[in-house]
Amino acid sequence: MTARPIFDEEHELFREQARRFCEREIAPHFRDWERQGCSPREFWRKAGAAGLLCTTIPAEYGGGGGTFLHACVVTEEMVRVGANLGIAVHSDMVAPYLLHYGSETLKRRLLPRLCAGELVASIGMTEPGTGSDLKSIRTSAVRAAGPDGREQWVINGQKVWITNGYNCGVVIVACKTDPAAGAKGVSLIAVEEGTPGFTRSQPMDKIGLKAQDTAELFFDDVRVPLDNLVGDEGRGFVYLMQQLPQERLVIAVRSAATLETQLDATIGYTAERKVFGNPIIDFQNSRFKLAEAKAYIAMLRTFVDACIAEHVAVGISSERAAMAKLVATELMGRYLDEFLQLHGGYGYSSEYGIGRAWVDARVTRIAGGTSEVLKDIISRGLR
Ligand SMILES: Cc1cc2nc3c(=O)[nH]c(=O)nc-3n(C[C@H](O)[C@H](O)[C@H](O)COP(=O)(O)OP(=O)(O)OC[C@H]3O[C@@H](n4cnc5c(N)ncnc54)[C@H](O)[C@@H]3O)c2cc1C
Repeated sequence: MTARPIFDEEHELFREQARRFCEREIAPHFRDWERQGCSPREFWRKAGAAGLLCTTIPAEYGGGGGTFLHACVVTEEMVRVGANLGIAVHSDMVAPYLLHYGSETLKRRLLPRLCAGELVASIGMTEPGTGSDLKSIRTSAVRAAGPDGREQWVINGQKVWITNGYNCGVVIVACKTDPAAGAKGVSLIAVEEGTPGFTRSQPMDKIGLKAQDTAELFFDDVRVPLDNLVGDEGRGFVYLMQQLPQERLVIAVRSAATLETQLDATIGYTAERKVFGNPIIDFQNSRFKLAEAKAYIAMLRTFVDACIAEHVAVGISSERAAMAKLVATELMGRYLDEFLQLHGGYGYSSEYGIGRAWVDARVTRIAGGTSEVLKDIISRGLR
C-alpha cells in the first residue's frame, strides 16, 4: 500500500483503538443490523464512550478535539470491517453545522449529547420534490407567537432519504423562511426528537446500505424556540455550500478505503481459488485487471490524501472536493464490478464482502451530490 505521511504516531494509536472497537462492537453484529434496517441506539452510546463519535469537535463540547485526520481514521476502520453506518453523517456532517454556526446555547445543549452518542444526528435537505436543486425546497418555517406569547418557529413539510432518520434524536432541517427569496430564503433549524408534530417513517427499504437507517421525516406544525435557528436566518444555503465539500471528501475517503480493502480481498480470493487447475489470479485477464485496478487505486490514494492534507491545512475548495468525490466514486463503481466478476458466483452472495460493497457503492454516485452535479461544479472553474 502507498505510504501515508499524512498520519503520525498518535493517529496510528487512535487507529488501533478504532480497529479494536470495530472488530468487537460492529463486525459480529453487523449482519443482524442489516436485517433490522438500522443499528441499535445502544451501539451509538458505546461508540461515544469509545471516543469514536465527533472526533473533530472540541473537548469543551465533549468531542475528541482532533482534526479531520481522526475522522478519516474512523471512516477507514469502519470500511475495513465492511460496515456502513451513519457515523460520518452524525460526526463529520451534522455536528460541524452546530459547531460552526450554532449559538452557544444550542452548542452546549446538543453537542455533548451528540459526542456521547445519546442523540443520533441527521441533516434534512432532500424532499420528495427536490434533491439536486436544493434552493427549491418547500419545507417552510414561519415565526408565530407560542402559548406564552413568545415567538417560535413553526415548521411544516417533509424530508426524504434522511440518513439516521429513524434513529434521529436531532435533525438540522433546511427550511424556507422566505419563500420569495430563492437561495437567500433558506435557513437551518434544529428539531429534536419528541417535539410534537415531528414524526418519522420506518427505515426505508433500500437495495443496499441495509444497516444505515434512512427514513422520511414529517413536520406538521412543529414548534421550536427561535434559538433553534442554526446561524443566521436566510444564510442556510451558504452554510450548506460551505459544509458540502467536507461531506464530499468524506465520501471520497470512504471510497478509496473500500477500493483498497476489496482489492486486497480479491487478490486473496483469486490466489486461493483454482479453476481449470490454476489459481484464478494466474490467468492473464485476472492479473491485468488487478494490476490496472492497483495502479488506479494508488493514484486515487495519492490524490485523496493530498485533499485530506489540504482540508486540514486550509479547508478544501468545493471544486477539489467535487473532483475527489467524482473520481473516487466512479472508480469504485468500475473496479468493484470487476472484483465481483473475479469472484464468480460467490461475488453475488451477500456472505462475501465484495457483493455487499458493490451494492452499497452504487449510492455514492448519487447522494451528497450526483456525479452530474459534481461535473457542473467542476465545469464552473473551466474558464
Ligand atoms: C441512501 C441515501 C442516503 C441519503 N442521505 C441523505 C441525507 O442524510 N440527507 C439529505 O438531505 N439527503 C440525503 N439523500 C438524498 C440525496 O442527497 C439525493 O438523492 C441526491 O442529492 C439527488 O437528489 P434526487 O434523488 O432528488 O435526484 P434528482 O435531483 O431528481 O436527480 C435525478 C437525475 O437528474 C440529474 N440531474 C440533476 N440536476 C442536474 C443538472 N444540473 N445537470 C445534469 N443532470 C442533473 C441527476 O444527476 C440525476 O441523475 C440520500 C439519498 C440516498 C439514496
